[in-house]
Amino acid sequence: MPIINRIAEFHDEMTAWRRRIHANPETAFQEHKTSAFVAERLRSFGIEVHQGLAQTGVVGTLKGAHGDGPAIGLRADMDALHIEEKNQTAWRSQVPGKMHACGHDGHTTMLLGAAKYLAETRNFAGTVHFIFQPAEEHEGGGRAMVEEGLFRKFPMESVYGMHNFPGIEVGRFMVREGPCMAAADSIDIVVRGKGVHAAAPHLGTDPIVTAAQIVTALQTVASRTINPLDAVVLTITQIHAGETYNIIPEEVVLRGTVRSFKPEVQTAAEAAIKRICAGVASSMGVTVEASYTRGYPATVNDKDEAAFAAGVAAQVTGQNNVTFNSDPVMGAEDFAYMLNEKPGCYIGIGNGPGEGGCWLHNPHYDFNDAILPLGASYWARLAEARLAKR
Ligand SMILES: [Zn+2]
Ligand SMILES: [Zn+2]
Repeated sequence: MPIINRIAEFHDEMTAWRRRIHANPETAFQEHKTSAFVAERLRSFGIEVHQGLAQTGVVGTLKGAHGDGPAIGLRADMDALHIEEKNQTAWRSQVPGKMHACGHDGHTTMLLGAAKYLAETRNFAGTVHFIFQPAEEHEGGGRAMVEEGLFRKFPMESVYGMHNFPGIEVGRFMVREGPCMAAADSIDIVVRGKGVHAAAPHLGTDPIVTAAQIVTALQTVASRTINPLDAVVLTITQIHAGETYNIIPEEVVLRGTVRSFKPEVQTAAEAAIKRICAGVASSMGVTVEASYTRGYPATVNDKDEAAFAAGVAAQVTGQNNVTFNSDPVMGAEDFAYMLNEKPGCYIGIGNGPGEGGCWLHNPHYDFNDAILPLGASYWARLAEARLAKR
C-alpha cells in the first residue's frame, strides 16, 4: 500500500504550506506566525485546537469515527535556525539571519497533511493528538511542553516523531529500536593564570599552555576512560583567550560538547573531565573551573513501537525501502523528553541527496517537497494502524 491517494491529491497544497513556512522562519519560542498558521489550518480541518503550551506550542485533538480507543501523539517541530539562507529559490527565507535549515518546515507540513486526511476520513477508534512543538534546536521546547503538562492535559499511550535525513534516498525510512540519537551535554572550562609580559613568562603563570594540554588530555576521555563498546564523542569547539602579541592573558575559556547514549557514560565522562582539568591545572600551577551541564537526553525508541513503526513505513514505501536497526546518530533531539515519558518511536525519512549533497544546518539545505506525501502517508497509516477499530 503506497502513498495514500487522497494525500497525493493535495501534494500541491502541502507544497504551498511548506514554502510559506520556509519563507517565514521563526526561531525558538518566537514561532508566533507559524503556530497561528498551524492552528488556523487545523481548525479549518475541523480539529479541536489548544494553543499556548510552551508559549507557541499547538496541540490539535481529533477523535476517530469508530468510538472509544486509546490516544496517541504525533509530533512535529516548528522552529528555524539562526543561519543566513544561501538558496535563491522563490520561497527563500524573507527573514535576515534566519532559515529553515533543518526541515522543520517540512515536518510541520507533513503532520498538517496527515491531520487534513485523518480529519476527512476519521477511520480509527480513539484519539490522535497532533503535537506541534517550538524550539527543538537548542532551547528544549519539547521539554517545556512536557513540563507544562502535555501528557497530563492530553493523556496518551504513546508518542511518535519523525526527522528528514539528507543523503538518504527519497522513499526510504530508517528506524531502530533502543537509542537512536545521542544525549548532548555541554562542557565549560575556565583556566586562570597570572597575566604577564609575553617576554617574561617566568614572572606569571600561563593559562594558554595549560589549556592546550587540557584539550589534548581530554582526548583520553573517549579513548582511555569509556568502555570502547560504548559510543562517546568529546569535542572542544571553542577556545577564547588573549588580545595581542605580547601579553600572556589571565584567562582561557574552553567550551565543548559530549555526546553519548548511556547515563553511566555521561557520569564517567563528567568525572574524567573534572579530574583531568584539575590534575593538569595543578601540575602547571594555575587554577581551573570545569563544569558539565546535561542537555538533551538520549532519544530511545521502545522496542515494540520501533518494530510497529517499521511495519507502518513498509506499508507506505515497501519492505525493501525500510532500513531497520540503522546506525544511531550522534546528533541530539529534544523529542527525547517525550520518549522519556511515553513509549514511542522516532523515525528518519530520506530527504534525497540534496543540491550539492548539503546536510542539515547548511545554508544551502532545503526540505525536499517530493517527500511531503510520503511522510504524511506514514503519519496517517500509523494512526489508522495503532488505533484500528477492534
Ligand atoms: Zn536541527
Ligand atoms: Zn531538526
